[in-house]
Amino acid sequence: MRNTGFFFDERCLWHTSGIYAGNMLAGSWVQPPSAGGHVESPETKRRFKNLLEVSGLAAQLSWHSAQPASLEDLLRVHDADYLQRFQALSDGGGGQLAEDAFVGPGGFEIACLSAGLACAAVDAVLRGELDNAYALSRPPGHHCLADRPLGFCFLANIPIAINQAQARHGANRVAVIDWDVHHGNGTQAAFYQRDDVLTISLHQDRCFPPGYSGEEERGEGAGSGCNLNIPLLAGAGHESYLYALQKRVLPAVEKFKPDLIVVACGYDASGLDPLARMQLHSDSYRAMTDAVLAAADRLCGGRMVMVHEGGYSEHYVPFCGLAVMESLSGRRTTVNDPMLEVIKRQQPREPFVRFQQQVLDEMWQRLKL
Ligand SMILES: [Zn+2]
Repeated sequence: MRNTGFFFDERCLWHTSGIYAGNMLAGSWVQPPSAGGHVESPETKRRFKNLLEVSGLAAQLSWHSAQPASLEDLLRVHDADYLQRFQALSDGGGGQLAEDAFVGPGGFEIACLSAGLACAAVDAVLRGELDNAYALSRPPGHHCLADRPLGFCFLANIPIAINQAQARHGANRVAVIDWDVHHGNGTQAAFYQRDDVLTISLHQDRCFPPGYSGEEERGEGAGSGCNLNIPLLAGAGHESYLYALQKRVLPAVEKFKPDLIVVACGYDASGLDPLARMQLHSDSYRAMTDAVLAAADRLCGGRMVMVHEGGYSEHYVPFCGLAVMESLSGRRTTVNDPMLEVIKRQQPREPFVRFQQQVLDEMWQRLKL
């Protein structure tokens, strides 16, 4: 069993994503939402936390809130005029900061707190106070760029946390594995020219940003070779993810020899997610966490931090999240995932799995990986 931290603050669930039906802005031809509202709702996160509590696992985790990320922390990643624009809109009662980025009153402070949870989780693990940690950050961060929000993300939570940790704890090599189903474009951009942070994204090919695959983008200058994109075909399931993880992701991390592994943990590759078309289940998230944890044990004293990104099925995110927390903490609750056997039966057939592996093998050969 491990001493696992869980970084959470109720205020992060009070971030409002605006008047959307699913992910379409209401108005014109789109009828305003019913009870559910925006697809990026607090419910997926709140229900994840609730299941941790009713399962009894919450009581066995080390529970923390955090200070908001400071302006100094934000400025290591973001442009000053973007931050000013964001804060002014938030102070003035909120509104549309970009096409898919609505902010409510006080949304700037909530975003700073979301980044602060990631910072505090990384700090506590690097200081050795915790074996590993999970930050339930909201709003998420992995699409956000230095000068603009994107895809429900307002601040680049993971880059902010890594940069502040490097400034505070000295030079650390960090490997980021992003298994949110969408491409981790913001995290990639933040470290694209650096050789001290390895960024790897597993994502549904061409899903988001729409049309993006990214396998040719390997980093630039000093960062050349320090970025790896693995696009997977829509419909890919458990076996394809584990294949990519074991065959390329973990060997790349081994070779990089990180001092810390950070996982951008999105649950939107689940078989029930409304924003993607993948087929993972709670045992997939458990197996992936087990595999990364084993790599962290071999490479960096088990130091591993997971930061919450997407995941939009309010009914299923809790079961995938619980599986991750059981794996991280080395404990097992009595909770059964009621959808597990159904999604297992919905996995793609053998010819699809073989085809997906062949596509990956050919891609890696072409790129001389
Ligand atoms: Zn996502």
